[in-house]
Amino acid sequence: MASGTKDYYELLGVARSASAEEIKKAFRRRARETHPDASDAHDAEERFKEVNEAYEVLSDPQKRDLYDRFGTADPRAAGGGFGDFGDIFNAAGVEDIFSMFFGGAGATASARTAAREGRDMAAQVTITLLEAADGVTKEVRYTRDAPCAACGGQGAAPGGKVTACPDCGGTGQVRAARRTFLGTFESVAPCIRCAATGAVADPPCPKCGGSGRERRAESVSVEVPAGIADGMQIRVPGAGEAGLRGARPGDLIVGVRVEPHEFLAREGDDLHCRAEISIAAAALGETVVVPGLRGDVDVDVPAGAQYGDALRVRGQGMPRLRNGSTGDLVVHLAVAVPRKLSKRQRELLRELRETLRSTAGDRTPLQRIRDWLGG
Ligand SMILES: [Zn+2]
Ligand SMILES: [Zn+2]
Repeated sequence: MASGTKDYYELLGVARSASAEEIKKAFRRRARETHPDASDAHDAEERFKEVNEAYEVLSDPQKRDLYDRFGTADPRAAGGGFGDFGDIFNAAGVEDIFSMFFGGAGATASARTAAREGRDMAAQVTITLLEAADGVTKEVRYTRDAPCAACGGQGAAPGGKVTACPDCGGTGQVRAARRTFLGTFESVAPCIRCAATGAVADPPCPKCGGSGRERRAESVSVEVPAGIADGMQIRVPGAGEAGLRGARPGDLIVGVRVEPHEFLAREGDDLHCRAEISIAAAALGETVVVPGLRGDVDVDVPAGAQYGDALRVRGQGMPRLRNGSTGDLVVHLAVAVPRKLSKRQRELLRELRETLRSTAGDRTPLQRIRDWLGG
């Protein structure tokens, strides 16, 4: 399984808001439990690896942050766009990145706005197939940088205000002269003090240090529409990371996992199941009852049904997400040969065998093969 598809918090058995110390403790415990030397489970080695992978990500604040926001610790897979210069500063030379993003022309008003906006975050919900068919409201719990409650997200202490950054004069960028043997070059870099936003809170709110954000456990209700398929995503606008000092927040992108059903397999909007019928039902035809998604469903098996025949029951599948119609239930027939027979049943079958022999008697072997192939 590729990394990023598992819930690392679940693997370690900790809450999403767990502290570094709690994560370390949980890892030690889980590692002891799953270590192949200590565990008899057949997949112990795999599980031990997963626990290690989870710890590697969650114990590293940067990887954990990426994982919280994008569901993966791989920055190439994250692809969420940079809203905060923190990541870029670490990734490459400041000047290179700055000129790449802003064409070297200096910070524009829109660049300063972008630097303040919150990033999108990722979360996941798991639902049953029945919930996917009916639609469901799910509570999603996660931890995010939320608007600071003490300053209302504005970043200034009571009585304070947001002013132009004194380091960059509100431009969000600083110029530096660099002397080399070829001459003096002027370079432009994003202002560290205001994180290229051009403004600072004065005096800053003591709770959030002027950012207007605080880390908080949150909960949001997500409407999962009927007919949703495994792997689809639902966007909750504004529920992602809060912007700096009240700027536009990011969205929360909720990935939906649909649990596999006990006996129904989904293929698009159709559901598939298997029904065992007797040789008599197959030969003579019969109405059989199969378990559908919402209870028993009657299926008319025609006379002469064969092993592997698929019968379609209209309208007993999954609702279609877009047009409100419904898929089908496809019943795959398995003809069960009885393992135990009463004396009477044995007699009847022997009799049947004799009559079948005499019917087949006037057919050539090639014709019999054709009969058998159904052609
Ligand atoms: Zn605050
Ligand atoms: Zn500044």
